[in-house]
Amino acid sequence: MTSYRDFHRRSIENPEDFWREEARRIHWHTPFDDVLDRSNPPFARWFVGGRTNLCHNAVDRHLAERAQQNALVYVSTETGIERRYTYAELYGEINRMAAVMRSLGVKRGDVVLLYLPMIPEALFAMLACARLGAIHSVVFGGFAAPNLAARIDDAKPVLIVTADAGARGGKVIDYTPLIDEALARATHQTPHVLLIDRQLAPERLNAHYLVAYEPLREQFFDVHVPCEWLESNEPSYVLYTSGTTGKPKGVQRDVGGYAVALAASMEHIFEGKPGDTMFTASDVGWVVGHSYIIYAPLIAGLTTVMYEGTPIRPDGGIWWRLVEQHKINLMFTAPTALRVLKKQDPALLKKSDLSSLRTLFLAGEPLDEPTAAWIADALGKPVIDNYWQTETGWPMLAIPRGVETLRSKLGSPGVPSAGFNLTLRNELTGDACAPREKGVLTLDYPLPPGCMSTVWGDDSRFVSTYWSSIPNQQVYSTFDWGVQDEDGYVTILGRTDDVINVAGHRLGTREIEEALSSHAAVAEVAVVGVTDALKGQVAMAFVVLRGAQISADSSERARLEAELSATVERQLGAIARPARVVVVSMLPKTRSGKMLRRAIAALAEGRDPGDLPTIEDPAALLQIREALGGIGAN
Ligand code: ATP
Ligand code: MG
Repeated sequence: MTSYRDFHRRSIENPEDFWREEARRIHWHTPFDDVLDRSNPPFARWFVGGRTNLCHNAVDRHLAERAQQNALVYVSTETGIERRYTYAELYGEINRMAAVMRSLGVKRGDVVLLYLPMIPEALFAMLACARLGAIHSVVFGGFAAPNLAARIDDAKPVLIVTADAGARGGKVIDYTPLIDEALARATHQTPHVLLIDRQLAPERLNAHYLVAYEPLREQFFDVHVPCEWLESNEPSYVLYTSGTTGKPKGVQRDVGGYAVALAASMEHIFEGKPGDTMFTASDVGWVVGHSYIIYAPLIAGLTTVMYEGTPIRPDGGIWWRLVEQHKINLMFTAPTALRVLKKQDPALLKKSDLSSLRTLFLAGEPLDEPTAAWIADALGKPVIDNYWQTETGWPMLAIPRGVETLRSKLGSPGVPSAGFNLTLRNELTGDACAPREKGVLTLDYPLPPGCMSTVWGDDSRFVSTYWSSIPNQQVYSTFDWGVQDEDGYVTILGRTDDVINVAGHRLGTREIEEALSSHAAVAEVAVVGVTDALKGQVAMAFVVLRGAQISADSSERARLEAELSATVERQLGAIARPARVVVVSMLPKTRSGKMLRRAIAALAEGRDPGDLPTIEDPAALLQIREALGGIGAN
């Protein structure tokens, strides 16, 4: 058996040979001439001259062997609808969608913007674009009109595909007024808007620009649309980052490199075999949804489960019942969902037969140790934290159990994946850090297949944003801060923006947050750095208590705040002791569940947090403002 060390070393020392072998996992209509074009760093072009198609690899290729296997299981607890599509049925639906798009003028290289809820048509539309060689840009359904307008102007679509409504937590969100407003705000004129009518919201088809999907689908019911064979480096999609730290960036992805990287990840990291069932509880609007609801499971011949709803409706046992009913083998979600589930009755987890489940994967934000320990214990199965970004398209840190069953270390997502030449660097000197020395996670050129090709429409922004922040080296910066131990395991300590400098000592927000969450009263916590005249910066902590009981008694609160501060001091020293611990009932997060620390810090310093297009619930900010009650910076 290959050990992880040899496997990773081969991928770095000879990427051409390594990825030439991995490229056999997908179908090439025309073989590539070169594995890697390094002529124009930091740009890397993979599998140059090879022609392939993502839809062919995800669907057509499986028809010979698994036409009658389920490709997609769709469950909506919002509408009560459950549907299954075999690979043969999926093939039919994608062809219909592709024929409809083609009839509206969509062709190779055009952008199609998808503003859709979690419905099967979202998957059909993405794969229909892939089939036609069109570039999809999925915008998370539920973004407000100004954010949608900004993405319309950046992506310049020839077609928008939308639905009458989304639904979340039992509430219907009417999409067409949002589309109306976004189109009015956008400078770019989109020729057509295709509407999937779920019959959730009042009929809107009289709006002159809306084209109804259903009659067109009927019209093109038996049409077959051939796959466009794209050169490996043509764009497959544009996806904007979550916008946690500022203006979202349009990440452009290729075709061949992405397909190969996902297929390799299914083998080496996820251990997904043809015929397995995978449930990724994310949204098609995020990168986890693109890669592990849609492309990777289908490319690898699995059944993918697509879910519309929350983890606690009708009750906190719903996901575990899905595992039992659909014999789910692999599950993938974010720590934020687990923290929600942890607050539910633990007995709910034990009520379902979870014997089919092999592994739970988690990504998107730091997995705090109490949550990791809780779920690993409750499930009795491996829980694999994995770290990546919209930019990388697939995990750059994980435990590659398909290569070697390395042990997990609590608090660390694991070791670098194939092709990721990761080094922690000092951001002031650019020097590589010694083991256990804190630094920025950087990647050496070239990024492996599957990573972003460039920033959409702006090559110079790709270079200036990602490859120019470390002195004396042209390396890719993740803008995340961490440490690596002697065995190569990396722990993420926070975003570089969030690093706190107290009297010359640099602390990651994550370190203080971990110390606070070790206290039994704490359910969730955000730590930010706040300007201080004396020390430069001090840490301030915002805490959500377990069971959400905020005591009205101010002396009780003061006692708890002191106790929490003391906990931090005991674990990390006096330097890390928060200047204040503030109890709130909710923390501000993005719609993808990431903490908006910069906005909290702005409020704590009495500044305007600015425009926060991706915030989940603005009420969380109000609460912080009130809790601070004009305390200001000190
Ligand atoms: P923007 O770049 O627009 O500010 P974003 O960085 O939140 O948005 P994503 O690409 O969705 O957008 O998120 C990637 C980031 O999420 C990583 O850079 C890291 O900060 C965090 N992250 C993801 N997975 C993990 C993990 N397993 N552990 C710790 N942090 C993680
Ligand atoms: Mg980012």
